[in-house]
Amino acid sequence: MSGIIFDIKRFAIHDGPGIRTSIFFKGCPLSCWWCHNPESRKTEIEQLNFKFKGKNQIGWETSPERLLTDVEKDRPFYEQSNGGITFTGGEPLMQPDFLIETAKLLKQNYLHLCLDTSGFASTKIFQDASQYFDLFLFDLKHLDDENHIKYTGVSNNVILKNLEYLVENKKEVHIRFPLIPKINDDSKHLENIASYLTHLKDIKNLNLLPYHKIAQGKYEKLNFENKMKVTQEPSKTEVENIKSFFEEKGFAVKIGG
Ligand code: SF4
Repeated sequence: MSGIIFDIKRFAIHDGPGIRTSIFFKGCPLSCWWCHNPESRKTEIEQLNFKFKGKNQIGWETSPERLLTDVEKDRPFYEQSNGGITFTGGEPLMQPDFLIETAKLLKQNYLHLCLDTSGFASTKIFQDASQYFDLFLFDLKHLDDENHIKYTGVSNNVILKNLEYLVENKKEVHIRFPLIPKINDDSKHLENIASYLTHLKDIKNLNLLPYHKIAQGKYEKLNFENKMKVTQEPSKTEVENIKSFFEEKGFAVKIGG
């Protein structure tokens, strides 16, 4: 059993509780206009004729056993901080067998596991994988399906179904809402998000991820079309106002992470 990842970040503090190791899976079925990790999008290992983050290659093959050895190094930090391991990407559910085998092995070794996901996977894959995770960082990008298709390339139907499955099965879910100017930050859409999440019940934690231009250079390097060239980052005041809006609706809101 093997799979392809493109990064391992040790001592991560924004990808779930405590100190964590984040494992970045390669491949994503979405193509969000604002994606900060365009190097994650292709499923295969990429050989480059230039340096990207100091290397001529994006991605490498690894195994569940190898990952267990890698993450074990920091066990004392996870134990002291109530941290653990976060699977992110890309979309980890794009490599379901590898994800499930790795999660199973890490779980047998008593590690706290978190899945950072777009939620875009077949119901069967999603439900099979979800039993191994303690916490889900679940992206909610747009509630209007037409807009979801326009800005991410896929429908939100299965995503919302998968989110509702987690809630019905009493899983711990933190919603991650990327705040993208003029795409999903108008007051009507914010109202819809608040009302949808309130009706789901049991969802209290909301992370606002304000759009930033940090990844722009990556688009040029990797020759990806950048559809967000003219979009400005939201101001601190705008983000604070949206934070207050959700807090007034009863959510525990964090900016970032
Ligand atoms: S789901 Fe995440 S990794 Fe995939 S395209 Fe969107 S922002 Fe990028």
